[in-house]
This record gives sequence, C-alpha cells and structure tokens, in this order.
Amino acid sequence: MAKQEREPHSGRRVALFPLPFQGHLSPMLQLAALLRSRGFAVTVLHTGFNAPDPARHRELAFVPIHETLPEEATSPDAGIVAQLIALNAACEAPFQDALASLLPDVACVVVDGQWYAALGAAALVGVPALALRTDSAATFRSMLAYPRLRDAGYIPIQGKNDERLDEPVPELEPLRVRDLIRVDGCEADALCGFITRVADAMRASASGVVVNTFDAIEASVLGKIETELSQPAFAVGPLHKLSPMAAAEHNFLHSPDRGCLAWLDAHPPRSVLYVSLGSVACIDRGVFDEMAWALAGSGAPFLWVIRPGSVRGGEPPLPFGLDMSRGKIVPWAPQRDVLAHPATGGFWTHCGWNSTLESVCEGVPMLAQPCFADQTVNARYVTHQWGVGLELGEVFDRARVAEAVRRLMVGEECAAMRESARRLKIQAKQCVSATVAMDNLVKYICSL
Ligand code: UDP
Repeated sequence: MAKQEREPHSGRRVALFPLPFQGHLSPMLQLAALLRSRGFAVTVLHTGFNAPDPARHRELAFVPIHETLPEEATSPDAGIVAQLIALNAACEAPFQDALASLLPDVACVVVDGQWYAALGAAALVGVPALALRTDSAATFRSMLAYPRLRDAGYIPIQGKNDERLDEPVPELEPLRVRDLIRVDGCEADALCGFITRVADAMRASASGVVVNTFDAIEASVLGKIETELSQPAFAVGPLHKLSPMAAAEHNFLHSPDRGCLAWLDAHPPRSVLYVSLGSVACIDRGVFDEMAWALAGSGAPFLWVIRPGSVRGGEPPLPFGLDMSRGKIVPWAPQRDVLAHPATGGFWTHCGWNSTLESVCEGVPMLAQPCFADQTVNARYVTHQWGVGLELGEVFDRARVAEAVRRLMVGEECAAMRESARRLKIQAKQCVSATVAMDNLVKYICSL
C-alpha cells in the first residue's frame, strides 16, 4: 500500500475483538488486515481460548484479555448457545479492562456480533463500537425480528410437527418458519433469550454494523437493516477475497492436508464432489453411515473432510464393505484452494456462512445439509434465492442422498445451477474490484 494512501488515518487505532471460533476468527482477522492496509493501527483483543497466533500477523498488535472461563464456555458438550452465553458472561469485565487500557489511543472497537456483553462494556468505557456480523445480512435481520416473531407466535418453533413449518415468515421472505435459526438440543427459550440479547445490545450500544456480505446478493436486506436499526450497515465482503492477508497468515485451528490438492490434480474438470460440514457441526453415527453409503453409491469422485470430533461418540470406522476407491478422506482441507480447484464440481456443505461465501466466490454449486444456527437461513438463500444449490431435506437416507449428489454433479439441473453459480461468481468478482463499501467504512470510523 502506497504511503500517501495510509496517511489520512495514520495514528488512529482500531481495536477488534473476535469470537474464538474458526468461522468467526477468520473474517475478523481478514477485516483487521484490511483496516491495517488502509493505514489504521490495529490491536486485536483476544481470549486465551482458541487464541490467534500473533507470529502470523506481524502488522497487528495482540492483547490477551486474560479471562477465566468456566468449563461450560469451552466444552462443545455444553451446546453452542450455553457456550456463547458463558463466554459473554466471563469475558465482559476482562474485555472492558483491556479496552480501557488502550485509552485514549483508540478510535473505535469492532466486536463480533455475538459479543453482546462486549458492546455494552465498550459503551461503559466510552469507545464507539461496531459489530461485525460473520453471518449473512438475512440471518442478522431475522435475529432483529425475533421479538416480533415471538409476539406473533412463530417462535419458539414447536419441533418437527409445528403446523407452521412451511409458512413463509412475513417480511422475511424467502424464509419459511423451518428456516429460522435453530439449535437442536437447546431449549427454545434459551435460544430466543440469546438472540434477544444480541438484538437488544445492537440497538442500545452499537454505532453500526459491518457485514461480511456483498451488495449483489444482499443489498435489499442491508437497506432494511439500516432502516430498522437507524444505524449504518457496511457490506464489506467477501472478506476472504478482499483482505490483503497472505495465505501463510491465515489462522486455522487445524492444519490442512495439502496433499489433497495433488489428488484433485489427477481428476477431470468439475468431476469431484467436495464434502465438509465446517469446523463445529457434529453428526450422529447414523447420519455418518448414510453419508458414506450415499457417497460410495453416487458414482462421483469425492474429497471428504472427516474432522476429528465431528461424529458424536468418537470417530467411527467406515461401514464394512464400502467401496472407497473413488474417494479421498482428510481431517482438514485447504478449503478455499479446494473450491478454487478446476476439478471441484460441487460442494456438499452445512452452509456455514464462510463456506457459503467461499463457494459462491468460486462458482461451485452446493448440496445443502444445514445442521444448526444460521445454516438453515443460508441454505434457503442458496437453493431458493440464488439458484445455486439443492436442499437435502429432512429425510436422510442413502438412496435419496446419492440421487441428490447425481443431480448436483451431472444433467440439466446441474447445468442450470452451474450457470447461476458462474453469474454469481462474476458479481462477487466485481464487488472485490470495487472498494466503495470499505471506503465508506473507513470514512465512518474516522468520523466517530
Ligand atoms: N475450513 C477449512 N477446511 C476444512 C473445513 C473448513 O479451511 O476442512 C474453513 C472454511 O474454509 C471456512 C471455515 O473453516 O472458512 C468454516 O466456517 P463456516 O462459517 O463455513 O462454518 P463453521 O465452521 O463456523 O460452522
């Protein structure tokens, strides 16, 4: 970055506070590198739990907040909502102290949108706070609508037999009731309570929202968020494409098996199905077995990420007698490189927002198997709004799934999805070359 481009903001410091999970750390650090490239001094406040590696980001300053966490905050067994609530409670005071220690040298703080307690703490210290949404604008807007949806009786959803599951949610189309955020095993009231705290903190303590999305896919939703919050919303994504962060700087909580790229090299263009359910989702043994049989039966070559800990009850052996000759299994893949590889023709995904954006940016159609949280919202947009994917649906058996894989990888439907995905990829590229949203964010931070 040329010196004169940095000049206007030099000396102004922005603090960032990521949530310590893979899908949240990556976009926050990508935003950090972007702000640094625009001339801000950047300090990353972080938990000791899943801490980022400062050695990978020499241009950023790192300050641990020195939290003391109860077991509930770090154990996946507690459930993600209980974990988030425990993290918020335990990190509020240490974050406030760490932020106060940066005064008066801090123009604003950008906290992950799930850190509702940190938004309030920043207000107490007198530092303007922006929230980074690492999920989609549509997901965030559905969270803001929770009080209204609760009053209208749409939530809590009454399980799989709720009569309203297929009703469209008023003012949130194309979402149906079944697409609203859900977390299996979490009390509906606890989830509702968490989301309400996030929405309340946004309204009470934030000066704006930064969303890892781009106008071509979510401009109208962003406009509605601005109106509803009376705060500016900045669509600064896709961050993984815009950020100047070099490949070696990326913080992965697992090390990727790069050998799978050579395996992909040996395959014809668009022939391989890439399968990954992200960094957090856990599936039952029965689902794992059906996935294995469906992959073997689909006829497509496949690269399957089986992350340690991703199957409940421990890593199971593959079903006896399964033909794996067309498949490769790895514990963690260099996902962005895999999706950009010419041999990759489809992505069987849980529709985490980062995975969804990464697939959109490479023009790869998706087979959507949402597991929890915002993944159902993303899956609905992938399949019904953008036409770049197929839904797996509730009934999960090997024959149906193998058929869905075939529809994704070959034939007329596949051709139509590939064409829509190609168009979306072009639109994403155009957003990457325009810097308007980031320019606006920089101006806004300077005005705070
Ligand atoms: N990821 C990866 N290799 C894998 C699986 C996942 O690099 O084998 C990365 C992926 O590229 C994405 C992130 O992990 O950036 C997962 O984030 P996402 O929002 O998709 O899902 P989450 O893990 O939060 O459920």
